[in-house]
Amino acid sequence: MKQIILSLLFLMLITGTATAQSAPFKLGSMQVFPLLDAQGKSPASLLVGATEEQVAQYVPEGELRSQILAFLVKISDQNFLFDTGLGTARGGKVMDALKALDVSPSDIDAVFLTHLHMDHVGGLTDANGKAIFSKAEVYVSRVEREWWCEEQKDKNIIKAFAPYEGRLRVFEFGESPLPGITAIDASGHTPGHTVFHVRAGEGELLVIGDILHFAEIQLPLPQIAVKYDTCQEKAPKARKYILDMAADKKIPVAGMHCPFPGLWCIAKKSGGGYEASRATQENQVRPF
Ligand SMILES: [Zn+2]
Repeated sequence: MKQIILSLLFLMLITGTATAQSAPFKLGSMQVFPLLDAQGKSPASLLVGATEEQVAQYVPEGELRSQILAFLVKISDQNFLFDTGLGTARGGKVMDALKALDVSPSDIDAVFLTHLHMDHVGGLTDANGKAIFSKAEVYVSRVEREWWCEEQKDKNIIKAFAPYEGRLRVFEFGESPLPGITAIDASGHTPGHTVFHVRAGEGELLVIGDILHFAEIQLPLPQIAVKYDTCQEKAPKARKYILDMAADKKIPVAGMHCPFPGLWCIAKKSGGGYEASRATQENQVRPF
């Protein structure tokens, strides 16, 4: 599996274009700043369960759009970072995007991790293994931490967490690790994959992590998995559960692999698929 992830990352081409937009999206009393870490193309051979006809229909160029995003959410005077991207040492641009917003790493109060693949956790440390975020508490699901640190004994993850000892906070699914932020079980992509339901005033957001990798085919055909899903049967079920919730309750989603700026409203289509409305120019995320 590591091989596949590495080859995916290798295919990511970092762009020199803007990595953040300074005007936030406003949802109730929260402000959401999408941060672009990397983007590029990936081969359609990463898909699991797609027929040749389906690939021809939804991926006509034969390559999938790949992007890595993180999100800064400001609520009152608190700065919450959801995932950290690849890390500067691997070419990730999240730190540049934060800088462009005039946010320094020491301004981040909490980092929430959807799961522990390197394109989400790599930005926790610098090239020397030192903590980037000097004050933040780091939140991760207990199941996810145990899978990587105790069962897999993954050296990279253990190293990424080491300088955060004493500031690492584990949570159970269903808990609210901080007021207004609830952890939803979205396991499948990884054993502890988490979707965060964020509420502030009238505003709600689902930070969906890797519920969508390649939206161009997984929205119309949510049953399609990817090679790096730990459980390829469970991941599509989590996708449907979360997208149903977003559509039924009209809660916008923030996707770590959705095309920048990565904020969408979701609607159900007949036949079991979904469609997404893009966030509009006026920085409003409008439901259908
Ligand atoms: Zn990912």
